[in-house]
Amino acid sequence: MKGYLALDVGGTKVAAGVVTGDGAVLSRLRIPTRDLRIGGNPLARLIVLGQEALDAAGGRPPAGVGITLPGPVDRRELRMRAAPTIPEFEGLPLAGALEDAFGCPAAGDNDANGCALAEARFGAGRGYSHVVYLTVSTGIGGGIVVDGRVFRGAAGASGEFGHQVLLPEGGPLCDCGNTGCLEALASGRGIAARARLAQANAPEGTAPRWSRADLTAEVVAEAARAGDLLALRVWQETALYLGLGIANAINILDPDVVVLGGGVATGAADLLFPSLREVVSRRCMPSLRRSVPILPTALGADVGLIGAACLAMET
Ligand SMILES: [Zn+2]
Repeated sequence: MKGYLALDVGGTKVAAGVVTGDGAVLSRLRIPTRDLRIGGNPLARLIVLGQEALDAAGGRPPAGVGITLPGPVDRRELRMRAAPTIPEFEGLPLAGALEDAFGCPAAGDNDANGCALAEARFGAGRGYSHVVYLTVSTGIGGGIVVDGRVFRGAAGASGEFGHQVLLPEGGPLCDCGNTGCLEALASGRGIAARARLAQANAPEGTAPRWSRADLTAEVVAEAARAGDLLALRVWQETALYLGLGIANAINILDPDVVVLGGGVATGAADLLFPSLREVVSRRCMPSLRRSVPILPTALGADVGLIGAACLAMET
């Protein structure tokens, strides 16, 4: 069985592993992204980590190397166009160095497209032709897979579901510079910001005593599960915004299935999925209101590695 070397470079963690052509993970190693800087050359450290992953899987040369990166990527040379979490990689062509180091073709893309492909081929979207993937974590990203291939658009920037504007007037400022984007409202940071605002506006003595600095989506989820009304309302609004975002995606793309992943969506699946499915079924065009399944990711923590391997298989 051919093995692909998979490198999943995230903003906080980096994983390397060997994945077979049918999606089985043979080895996996993880380090914090900041540890790539030990020794002063992050690319050299990444290559060492890749070699260790190959050794852990038996040491056979890989059929290809695939890499997912935390930002927009020029895919020809695997050059990150913007890399706020790992500035050393910004503008640095990775393809040649990876091909030389591992003696095989290299391919890569942003992490959302990798995860979309992984879920479409081996996860919750398996068996479907048209798969929309959304990830809700610190931000909101996504990918579109059509007949087993990522739909990338003219400039490789498709699938930015997080930057559809849901509140054109008075919405919160988004990192993209716009206001009222889905990401600014319903990402982990957006949820915490809305909870902070709700807490500040609540009548004296009725809001939970959250510390404003440590408030995260997880804290709001725990409060909602304990029955706090303000926290429940924050999650209800989150389901409304995400449901609208997904209904828009369904109206535009007519997919077979929508797969929802990311730490925030999976961590609060109990609070989100029932209400957002209801929002989607109310807000979709009647002709599209057939039951498009909205499913949680099936690949768990390995989704990024399997995604990187899928990108290598695409070449
Ligand atoms: Zn935005």
